[in-house]
Amino acid sequence: MTAEPVIDAQETPATPPPTVRASLSPSRAADFKTCPLLYRFRSIDRLPERPTVEQARGTLVHAVLERLFDLPAAARTPQSAGDLVAPQWDRLVTEQPELATLFAEGDAAGVAEFLRSAAALLEGYFAVEDPRRLEPAEREALISAVVDEELLIRGYLDRLDVAPDGALRVVDYKTGGAPREAFEARALFQLKFYALVLWRTRGVVPRVLRLLYLKDAEVCDYAPDAEELVRFERTVVALWQAIEQATARQDFRPRPSRLCDWCSHQALCPSFGGTPPPFPAAGAGDPLADARSRPAAPGADE
Ligand code: SF4
Repeated sequence: MTAEPVIDAQETPATPPPTVRASLSPSRAADFKTCPLLYRFRSIDRLPERPTVEQARGTLVHAVLERLFDLPAAARTPQSAGDLVAPQWDRLVTEQPELATLFAEGDAAGVAEFLRSAAALLEGYFAVEDPRRLEPAEREALISAVVDEELLIRGYLDRLDVAPDGALRVVDYKTGGAPREAFEARALFQLKFYALVLWRTRGVVPRVLRLLYLKDAEVCDYAPDAEELVRFERTVVALWQAIEQATARQDFRPRPSRLCDWCSHQALCPSFGGTPPPFPAAGAGDPLADARSRPAAPGADE
């Protein structure tokens, strides 16, 4: 028996209907789209990836922005955000001790510089938004929908704003230092994924999909429409079918691109002279219930 083609953890807010037999997050779907072998390494082999300083900074900045909106509106100042940086880092390190290994023991200067760099990204945030004027409807929310009766799609959105007239705005914070053009298609793919889930669950096409690039202090808005989301839904289902076929054939090919520079698995990749490990045998049990990674949490997939 071969590995199940699936995918992501089944920590869904509600029990999926009995027709559902697989789930897919935007991160893992984007992996397959970017490079099928990368998808295999992450979702089937489940190879560990050591967190990078950049990913840790992204997670930290997302955590600070999430907590910032717990404060009363008038208190959401750059000073308040800066004051949250160190306590949030302490919390993250307690919850994820591997983050502490990013810095040599006793490297207080390295940690201090890291915290300063996170604070600098928050300054980029305040350059493009005034959180005192916002009351997000949801933050770091896990959303899901069933498409094609069999496939559960789900993921965490950073923030959802709802206007008084009911219009939805999906906001995604981008903290990475990588060239934006290398990742923008992936970022937009993920936002359309959320738009599709919201449309299918709430019957409303989000008016705006917003990428906030904190390093550059820039905003990129995109307005989807229903026709586009219908096409996108077909794309997601086709992607899923391609994943199933690749799994049945145990055939996940590398697709080298600029994104290889950020791939943790070059040593195992044939495009870099490596050899992938043997294709894993399937674990027993329900493909929706066995151990799988969660959908990438906000900030972890920059
Ligand atoms: S190094 Fe590039 S081609 Fe190889 S698995 Fe990673 S992303 Fe794919």
